[in-house]
Amino acid sequence: MKKLVVGNWKMHGTRASNAELIQGLLAADLSVSAPKADVAVCPPAVFIADVAAALAGSAIAVGSQDVSVQAQGAFTGEVSGPMLKEFGATYAIVGHSERRSYHSESDQLVADKAKAALSHGLVPIVCVGETLAEREAGQTEAVVGRQLQAVIDTLGADLAKVVVAYEPVWAIGTGKTASPEQAQAVHAFLRAQLKAAQAEAAAVPLLYGGSVKPDNAAQLFAQPDIDGGLIGGAALKAADFAAIARAA
Ligand code: 13P
Repeated sequence: MKKLVVGNWKMHGTRASNAELIQGLLAADLSVSAPKADVAVCPPAVFIADVAAALAGSAIAVGSQDVSVQAQGAFTGEVSGPMLKEFGATYAIVGHSERRSYHSESDQLVADKAKAALSHGLVPIVCVGETLAEREAGQTEAVVGRQLQAVIDTLGADLAKVVVAYEPVWAIGTGKTASPEQAQAVHAFLRAQLKAAQAEAAAVPLLYGGSVKPDNAAQLFAQPDIDGGLIGGAALKAADFAAIARAA
């Protein structure tokens, strides 16, 4: 399977720093250097139009970090799927742990956002992951299984059209990467759950996220059920992000 490497820029950047980052990514010529990987970047919503225009014609796609459940209407502060699509987005991250914790997003809301993304022609990247306390309590599979099950129940026959990202909360922005074996074990669990729900969903790309860096990417990507990465901090440095994409 072709790998997928996605940069989540989170709430970082200015027009000037974005332009520099994009120049670096274009200079790295990922289309030639990383034929094994599809590559995308997810800037803050306000920059999506700029970034998509700057990357037009390149091999790098653009995504959003969130999407509204609604298509339009009186929903102050929200950004809808059709708006994101009009400005060049291909993907929409949904259910990132920062949104689940800081914005109280429930498993069902995340599943509904995935459904909304699909209905507007965006590929949802559904994030799941356990906290350190949950891992230490032996709850990892119960937590990610519950988060994924809401998506399975909500999407029905469209399940195979999503991307899933396993992001252990304790590994995000901490420099503590899950070991390749730890990540693989959870990915195998998620793969089995997807396959049990729908045979075609066994092919859903499963990304790993959480302190992926140039020096640990190749080992993670070599695992049989790790189909790529969702990259935070290292996606803000063109050389690091390009090196990770090349490791795919
Ligand atoms: P870091 O790569 O900075 O740990 O962030 C991971 C992440 O949350 C990507 O969505």
